[in-house]
Parts: sequence; structure tokens; C-alpha cells
Amino acid sequence: MKDIIEQYIRNVPDFPKPGVVFKDITPLLGEARVMQLTLNELLRLVPKKVDKVAGIEARGFFFATLLAEHLNAGFIPIRKPGKLPYDVYSEEYALEYGTDRIEMHIDAIVPGERVLIHDDVLATGGTALAAARLVEKAGGEVVMLNFLIELAFLKGREKLADYPVSSLLQY
Ligand code: AMP
Repeated sequence: MKDIIEQYIRNVPDFPKPGVVFKDITPLLGEARVMQLTLNELLRLVPKKVDKVAGIEARGFFFATLLAEHLNAGFIPIRKPGKLPYDVYSEEYALEYGTDRIEMHIDAIVPGERVLIHDDVLATGGTALAAARLVEKAGGEVVMLNFLIELAFLKGREKLADYPVSSLLQY
């Protein structure tokens, strides 16, 4: 199964900047059969009892919404600054050069809710850690961070050591 899914992930060298090999999942999203296969494989990795699935903008949204529907959970968008219209919690995280920020609506989570976080790629883990902190700020319990692709050589898992982490494909 995984070898089929891998064939639909395109490596784009030097995007968005020199030295980065971008994992492009649009070929996978474009094939209904492969998208369904991927969703089924992701569902095997995640807890079944969750109240919300939080997806990280933008490529995390695709499978986060599908996972939410299949888990009978609500969906939460975690977004880049200034995109969400209502009051937000905000969390800053370090980049290679400088900082970035992600936001979540303050009423996205009822305190005590079990939240699964999903993104397409785990790289250094900075974004996912900030997402986990946002969920906790709102009183949610992070039950797992789940990824389609893990760039294991960047050791993002070490940054996420306080949480259960799962990924479908490791590079
Ligand atoms: P990081 O905070 O370093 O773990 O970066 C994770 C975020 O950047 C995720 O939202 C990914 O979608 C994106 N990302 C980082 N590296 C790549 C890559 N090689 N290919 C595709 N997306 C990436």
C-alpha cells in the first residue's frame, strides 16, 4: 500500500528555495483511489475517540477534514496570521531565520476535548509544536500529532517528544 502511495508523491527539488526537496502531494490528491487508500492508512494510525481534528494551513486541511468526517469529529483550521476573522489564540515559533506565527479561534475547542492534529509534512517540528500549544491554550488535550510524511532526518519527533506522533511515510 505504502509503495503505491509513495509513487503519487512528487519530489520537487529547490522549491520553495534552493536545497529544499518539496514533497508535493497534489498527484496523490488528484487520484480518487489513492486518496482513499491514503485516508484508510492514516485512519489505522490515529485514535478512534477524538472530538476535533485540527488541520494546519494549508496542505494539512485536505486530510484533516477527511479524517474528521470519518472519526465523527469536528474540524478546526489552524491558520497563518490574519486569516481567521474572529478572536484568536496565537503562537509564535522559530524558523531557520526569524519567527513565524499560527492562530486558532478562541472558541474552536471546548476545554477537555480530545484533539488530533494533522499536517501533510513533519519537517523540523516547529509548526506542529506551536499547533499543540495552541490546542492546549484553549484547554484541549492533544491526543496525537499525525502526518502523512515525516522527514525523519530533520528529527522533528525530538521536538514533539511530549506527544504521541504517527506518520504514514518516513524519509
Ligand atoms: P516544520 O515546522 O519545519 O516541521 O515545517 C512543517 C511545515 O512546512 C508543514 O506545514 C509542511 O507542510 C511544510 N514543509 C516543510 N518542509 C517541507 C517539504 N520538504 N515538503 C513539503 N512541505 C514541507
